Amino acid sequence: MALIVQKYGGTSVGDADRIKAVAARVAATHKAGNQVVVVVSAMGHSTDELISLAADVSGGRHPREMDMLLTAGERISMALLAMAIRDQGVEAMSLTGSQAGILTDQSHGAAKIRDIRAIRVQEGLDLGRVVIVAGFQGVSPDTKEITTLGRGGSDATAVAMAAFLHADVCEIYTDVDGVYTADPRVVPDARKLDEVSFEEMLELAAAGAGVLMMRSVEFGRRFNIPLHVRSSFHDGEGTWVKEKTMESAAVTGVAHDTTEVKVTVQDVPDRPGVAAALFEPLSDAGINVDMIVQNTSQDGHTDISFTVPHSDAGEALAVARGAAETLGAGGVDLDEHIAKVSVVGAGMRSHPGIAARMFSVLATADINIAMISTSPIRVSCVVDAAKAEEAVRLLHAAFDPPFDPMEESR
Ligand code: ADP
Ligand code: ASP
Ligand code: MG
Repeated sequence: MALIVQKYGGTSVGDADRIKAVAARVAATHKAGNQVVVVVSAMGHSTDELISLAADVSGGRHPREMDMLLTAGERISMALLAMAIRDQGVEAMSLTGSQAGILTDQSHGAAKIRDIRAIRVQEGLDLGRVVIVAGFQGVSPDTKEITTLGRGGSDATAVAMAAFLHADVCEIYTDVDGVYTADPRVVPDARKLDEVSFEEMLELAAAGAGVLMMRSVEFGRRFNIPLHVRSSFHDGEGTWVKEKTMESAAVTGVAHDTTEVKVTVQDVPDRPGVAAALFEPLSDAGINVDMIVQNTSQDGHTDISFTVPHSDAGEALAVARGAAETLGAGGVDLDEHIAKVSVVGAGMRSHPGIAARMFSVLATADINIAMISTSPIRVSCVVDAAKAEEAVRLLHAAFDPPFDPMEESR
């Protein structure tokens, strides 16, 4: 008897028929003699709808109440799915994140899972039931408040639950057939990868490949839980995300991210301690800075640009203005129309020239690069948001991932 954790995303439980289809799959897995824990997302776009409803009601920031609101989305789908599974003749019970013992820190909207006390989950399994857990949510034992894990957080719930329960497999059911060499909505001829390493998937997720939330990949890697990303619409094999893979292509995939903005602090005095004076208060404010570029110094002054998530733009701007004033810098500028395009591949380590080729592909298309950052297995460029999809398509065509440098020289 295997213990299987299955996670179903929003589209997969998007309406009554989809919920019934998921129930049939879950019931079949249970009837085949497995123990099943199901993690569900909110139906369809309901999280987005709740966010815009809140914005219509209030212009203020209400982190606690936002979490109370958004966790309702997953409560709806978990209860409906439990009903549909029971109709299939299988005992099922739904649990909120808090009932399932998902303990987090106190950070509303971006809470991190600290521990799982899945006593009620285990009880349900021992009684032979399918246990359905609301994704994306937990409770802070310090404040006793309900928290959410950040967008896409049901993936993290599923992988953390699989790690805690020592599950045999963690299946992530979604609306695409697996992890592709680029977002298939942007690159129609992107290819499905049979397998991808945790390391590469982490970089792809960080670069904007929204098919898996980055933190879920971190959990998978830390606890060595192989993830099977697959379609909820058919039974075909998806993509295995795991520790080691057979191939390590120079370019495994191309990703893009349109969720960041660029902040530039102008005319910063070029002296020791300036970067610390700017980035320490940003970090104290809990703002995740992604890329940073410092221009060459002219007359003892320089510009510093950095990118942050769109949702942190207002706060980042306020913090940067404060720091600029203290430092005697010039103005602070916000550019909301940027996108990050990245190429990722573990084989890059042993195959120089990927960055140069990427720059030349963008140059040929007259796409200006505003910022560059690299890791040993990734090259990212910030470009004009309006050119992002074109850039992804051109890079995908140029590198033809999963591109193997050995093949090219044949
Ligand atoms: P779910 O609701 O199931 O969690 P998401 O919308 O969060 O689904 O993630 C699936 C989507 O991720 C796909 O529909 C696809 O557009 C997008 N995506 C982005 N990059 C990739 C990629 N490299 N491979 C597959 N899907 C990707
Ligand atoms: N419903 C949440 C979101 O849309 C969590 C999830 O779907 O994973 O971000
Ligand atoms: Mg998702």
